[in-house]
Amino acid sequence: MIDYKIGFSTDIHRFKNEGDYILLGGVKIKTDNLSIVAHSDGDCLLHALAESILSSLGMEDLGTYFDDRDDKYLNYDSKKILKFSLDELHKRNWKIRNVCINITLQQPRLSEYKKLIKENLCQLLNLSSEDISVHAGTNEKLDDIGKGLAIKVDSTILIYKEV
Ligand SMILES: [Zn+2]
Repeated sequence: MIDYKIGFSTDIHRFKNEGDYILLGGVKIKTDNLSIVAHSDGDCLLHALAESILSSLGMEDLGTYFDDRDDKYLNYDSKKILKFSLDELHKRNWKIRNVCINITLQQPRLSEYKKLIKENLCQLLNLSSEDISVHAGTNEKLDDIGKGLAIKVDSTILIYKEV
């Protein structure tokens, strides 16, 4: 018999008008005078993904394990945060069945980057492209995300193990 569990997380970060790139799913995306405000490297997608794994395991939120006031995590590589979640998953003998990522932002345009992000996630999670979706949309100019002041990423995940 196979047991399944679902996980969900959403992460939001403010933008600031300086810098020339943002990180999403480990992919460097060129920007014009725009970067993400964060204590870590600001990879909003990896934060949502890592936390959705913790969510599926019934663990606490990311901030419980990675204190954003701790200097240890200044400019921290978010791939290490993902690795922490994956280690917790594998310790308990769970595997990822599929992942759905939804990015909401007004700028920059992601159309040319979505494929790269997906390929990178396939590698990081050791999944085939049929088991990962990376969707992106604007917020129709509504609210602060729509004004281009912030980015939000939602991650839904299904995990399984044989019991
Ligand atoms: Zn974050």
